[in-house]
Amino acid sequence: MSTATPQKFEFQAEIKQLLDIVIHSLYTEKEIFVRELVSNASDALEKLRHTQITEKDIFDDKAELEINLTTDDKAKTLTIQDFGIGMTRAELIENLGTIAHSGSKQFLKALGEGGAKGANLIGQFGVGFYSAFMVAKSVKVYSHSWRASEPGHVWTSDGSGSYEIEEAADLRRGSKIVIELKDDCADFAEEWKIKEILERYSAFVSVPINLNGKRINTVQALWLRSKNEVKDEEYTEFYKFQAHAHDEPRLRLHFSADAPLSINALLFVPQSNTEKFGMARSEPAISLYCRKVLIDAKPKDLLPEWLRFLKGVVDSEDLPLNISRETMQDRSLIEKLNKVITKRFLKFLADESSARPDAYNEFYAEFGVFLKEGAALDFTHKEQLTKLLRYESSLTEKGKTTALTDYVSRMGADQKEIFYLVGPNRTAIESGPYLEGFKARNLEVLFCYEPVDEYVMNNVREFDGKKLTAADHADVKLADLPKPEGALSEDETQKLTTWLKETLGERVAEVKASDRLVDSPALAINSDKFMSPQMRRMMKAMKKDGADEPVKVNLEINPRSAVMKRLAETHVSSPEKAKLVAEQILDNALISAGLLDDATPMVARLYKLLESV
Ligand code: ADP
Ligand code: MG
Repeated sequence: MSTATPQKFEFQAEIKQLLDIVIHSLYTEKEIFVRELVSNASDALEKLRHTQITEKDIFDDKAELEINLTTDDKAKTLTIQDFGIGMTRAELIENLGTIAHSGSKQFLKALGEGGAKGANLIGQFGVGFYSAFMVAKSVKVYSHSWRASEPGHVWTSDGSGSYEIEEAADLRRGSKIVIELKDDCADFAEEWKIKEILERYSAFVSVPINLNGKRINTVQALWLRSKNEVKDEEYTEFYKFQAHAHDEPRLRLHFSADAPLSINALLFVPQSNTEKFGMARSEPAISLYCRKVLIDAKPKDLLPEWLRFLKGVVDSEDLPLNISRETMQDRSLIEKLNKVITKRFLKFLADESSARPDAYNEFYAEFGVFLKEGAALDFTHKEQLTKLLRYESSLTEKGKTTALTDYVSRMGADQKEIFYLVGPNRTAIESGPYLEGFKARNLEVLFCYEPVDEYVMNNVREFDGKKLTAADHADVKLADLPKPEGALSEDETQKLTTWLKETLGERVAEVKASDRLVDSPALAINSDKFMSPQMRRMMKAMKKDGADEPVKVNLEINPRSAVMKRLAETHVSSPEKAKLVAEQILDNALISAGLLDDATPMVARLYKLLESV
């Protein structure tokens, strides 16, 4: 049969169905057709490279392994040419006229299963070659196979049900796809537009891509190279390019895995945490690639929320290229990726923390808040994340921190709980009345300075089988200490606490002698277990119901304190003055607890007291 004259073919029924959807669905991301055609060109070059290994007689053997795009805004055309493997006449029919290939097959399968609107599905699957018909009035594919014995052909279609094939002379090796654009898609014939699209989706394709003669992709896909070969400067350059960053990365993790998925990942921690400056919440910024072609620049569930500060790329050959951004249909793939990468990154941080503690601590100072968020909310990784937390404590120097693991290793045999105190800073915690009882008993207390810490401690709840307990919690029981000389007797203490309860009335829930106090005369414990002072302050700030009700506290007094001894005398001899002192002691305790809402009555009372001096 002669092939010299144009011959007309009907598309296979499934292809007709597909084309109908592609053309008639208003699809918002038309631009992905560029990505699809460039991937096909890149695949064709890759296939040629393989063929060259075994075959000697390659047509047009001098042609460069590159992809050339040309825009013509006058003619409203876009041309994509590769010097790849090309197609014979039979291959044109097979590959472009039937549904033999992967991407479109999947698309139609999903269409059959879901019965969903086609428009949504196009978003979910790249439809490969046919995506060109979203923007094309007509598509011409000039192709010459690598086999020198085969003539060249041009395949033409307007996407409406049939196509034509005709022999064509003077073709180079490979394929040249000429797209005559629809009028409303004419901007795809603008150089700037195609440049932008190529930079977004195809920046790391390994074969050279030229647009109107200018090279587009100059940065290598570093993540696919072996770590020992890559220099620090290259990593930094890559980071700046990929993350649109201006700083040097603080940490980087470059790894590959084969099971359960093939993964090549290159992750960076930037210098600073931008959320810290009150900037907007970071968006996930790890880009997902499949063999160097961008699948999704900001995939939502690729990593857990608390890793949103990471930059970089993840590449997996196991991802079908035609999964596209609106969906990530295949949840299980993404979940698997998530699991592997998170685990690796946590292990990396654990290793860093022991190998380079200083650098880790600097990282922690900046990004620790994300680890805290994770420890509190990500149940799967809670254990590893809690190990990564660092706090100052009553046993560390100012500015030095400890890990919970180390805290536990220092715990005495009798200690069952891990104690912590929340306060604005070290001085505030150390000068408050809550710590002294623990110090006197050699119990270490972690110091928590950030508002989220309390939330974190409450959610983490326990570590290594030990409960995390607030040292100012009403339920904390401490072992007895020997009573020093000159303390109030049990009887005197009893009388004093009874009098104090009567005198302070509604302001206190309970007054009792304290086992926590060593030097301070008194302390206040919030009698509402479920609302700590910090929480109450937060609720007040958010104007939540209930936060404004006056607090009722347990007042604990120290029978060893000179102030209490004096009060035990004066409450009998001059009850009026003693009442003022009692009120003042309660206010002082409330101040230390961060629970005094209004200091005005206190000032008036103090003046009254001063009068009597
Ligand atoms: P997929 O790339 O998933 O196979 P496409 O619809 O993108 O699906 O392409 C269909 C087929 O057409 C490809 O598998 C390939 O055999 C052939 N093809 C497309 N573009 C080219 C090209 N530039 N050079 C050679 N073959 C091509
Ligand atoms: Mg393809």
